[in-house]
Amino acid sequence: MRETNWAGNRTFTAERILRPRTIEQVREAVAGATAVKALGSRHCFNDIADCPGGVQLDLSALDVEAELDVDAATVTVPASARYGDVAVQVHEAGFALANLASLPHCTVAGTVATATHGSGRRNQSLASAVSGLELVTADGDLRTYDRHDGVVVGLGALGVVTRLTLDLVPSFELRQDVFDGLSWESAYERFEEIQDAGYSVSMFTNWARDTIDQVWVKGSGQPGADFFGARAADGPRHPAHAAGIRADNCTRQLGVPGPWHERIPHFRLDFTPSVGNELQTEYFVPMKHAVEAMEALRGIGHRLAPVLLVSEIRTVAGDGLWLSPFHGGDRLALHFTWRPEEDAVRALLPVMEERLAPFGVRPHWGKLFHHAGDYPRLADFRALAGELDPHGKFRSPFVRRHVFGER
Ligand SMILES: Cc1cc2nc3c(=O)[nH]c(=O)nc-3n(C[C@H](O)[C@H](O)[C@H](O)COP(=O)(O)OP(=O)(O)OC[C@H]3O[C@@H](n4cnc5c(N)ncnc54)[C@H](O)[C@@H]3O)c2cc1C
Repeated sequence: MRETNWAGNRTFTAERILRPRTIEQVREAVAGATAVKALGSRHCFNDIADCPGGVQLDLSALDVEAELDVDAATVTVPASARYGDVAVQVHEAGFALANLASLPHCTVAGTVATATHGSGRRNQSLASAVSGLELVTADGDLRTYDRHDGVVVGLGALGVVTRLTLDLVPSFELRQDVFDGLSWESAYERFEEIQDAGYSVSMFTNWARDTIDQVWVKGSGQPGADFFGARAADGPRHPAHAAGIRADNCTRQLGVPGPWHERIPHFRLDFTPSVGNELQTEYFVPMKHAVEAMEALRGIGHRLAPVLLVSEIRTVAGDGLWLSPFHGGDRLALHFTWRPEEDAVRALLPVMEERLAPFGVRPHWGKLFHHAGDYPRLADFRALAGELDPHGKFRSPFVRRHVFGER
């Protein structure tokens, strides 16, 4: 039986999936293949991880151990390590990762390959914490890279990452407070103050109601019972609370302090994250267009709401990684958790992209989208891919379409 991605909306068309146990076996598998692609925990919603007719490499059995360097404040992890497991290990040693995504279930290599992010005006994407990586390139060579801006957000197009080194910060505690019913007027007029109210702030909406349903503030202090006019929630909330989803899989709320890795993700490692039966899309616009972009989406809120479970508004600090959607400056992140109705979602994407086009929109590489957007270092990335992979064995249809501009 063919294998699928986590959401079940993509059946992989690779001829086989190999599970190498050693780096030597990875090198042999890559050198011997004509089409090959590494596979993470399969949480992407499009065909980015597929390799039609070729070989997918699942690295979860690789015999590589994590190594903590206390003096350098870094941890070197196997590509298939899950963030949730890395977090526990570094926390026990007194360290933290600067930020995490909403779910801790994804592999480190798969996460940074798509520039996955959390929230926070001063928090960069998770890829920005990568200070080094080890890559098996098309001919089976094992190369190491130190702080190279081109290789981290690699979309699986440069080779197979076997190990990554992540920068750490001292461990810290956070509390998570949820507020119901923020007016759109407050969200627009006091946008910066709201985002500055915590280390990581998320706003949840369906774009059609009169108020923003919830604001989640993850910070060190008590934000106050009245949050820019929104009310403190009287119990735990799921982001899709308004769609009737219970908060059982969510991390602790109601202001109880706890370790960073049990508060930054919305969802707990030991549960299915999010809703489970869903699709996702996410768009990023420069922060200076935040209010205009939200207003543009509210203008089609009546079309979005029937297909949405919930939408999340976050902020991500800019970086210099070549194919990072945050390349060149801070961005507003507009995320959509859709009902599992792919035709309806696909019909909406061009409408949304047209609305957001004036703002220089870029999509999340791992979610559903039509156009990849503009990247000033795209030509450099293409040249690097050509050099590392001259015969295009990592050049899947996704990479051909979105990186090389082929139809
Ligand atoms: C419930 C849910 C919540 C999410 N929340 C967030 C969120 O908060 N923020 C956010 O930004 N995104 C979020 N995402 C998206 C998710 O973080 C990305 O799709 C991420 O890339 C998935 O990682 P993965 O390990 O599953 O990779 P996969 O989907 O398996 O692969 C992704 C890409 O990485 C490449 N890759 C994987 N391993 C390697 C390797 N060893 N070497 C080279 N390339 C490799 C693959 O070839 C592919 O191109 C969410 C997804 C889900 C399902």
